[in-house]
Amino acid sequence: MYDTLTTSYTFACPVHGRVHVRLSRFRRLQELPGAHSPAVFRVEFDCGCGGEHPGLLTHDELDWAPLGLEDTTSYLNLMTSRTESLAHELGDLAATRIRAGEWPWSFFCWPEERPRPVFPSAFRLLAPAASSEQVGVLVQCPACGRYSVNLVSRAHVDVPFVNDREVGVVEHLFGADTGATIEEFHAELWAGSFDARRLALE
Ligand SMILES: [Zn+2]
Ligand SMILES: [Zn+2]
Repeated sequence: MYDTLTTSYTFACPVHGRVHVRLSRFRRLQELPGAHSPAVFRVEFDCGCGGEHPGLLTHDELDWAPLGLEDTTSYLNLMTSRTESLAHELGDLAATRIRAGEWPWSFFCWPEERPRPVFPSAFRLLAPAASSEQVGVLVQCPACGRYSVNLVSRAHVDVPFVNDREVGVVEHLFGADTGATIEEFHAELWAGSFDARRLALE
């Protein structure tokens, strides 16, 4: 479940029951092996109770619900006096912006040395950066399949169509081996090497 008004996903917490979790509080995303239609992602998130819990999201919930396409809320359209679906309105709005060249999410692909549009399903790991409001994101590029780590604001991750003009990019080529990549991600993140280079997304 996704709430477009608070830009948060709904998960279960053993302490608090239902909790609302923004994307920047996700810590790890993994597509479940095997044939699922649509694909299913296992998510681990950092919960307000202090723990980390797992949750499951379909590909649609993960990537499309933030754009309003899964929203079942309806509202009274005062222009037509009819009850209309919010998903329809938000979906139209998102489609218009994408056609105009705006992307809900983007990142800087280090191996390709260029910005790329992306969806949350390409995020692999997230971690808050030490002593700042920023978050480190390990992204697997949908175009070249290689990994990059960007340092971005929380809003860049949490709010569709809000993109930082500049992001921090780790100048490091991560391997294809997931285990090693995770270790390198944490090592690079805590080494503070994010300040190495600021690159424009536009
Ligand atoms: Zn919890
Ligand atoms: Zn790439």
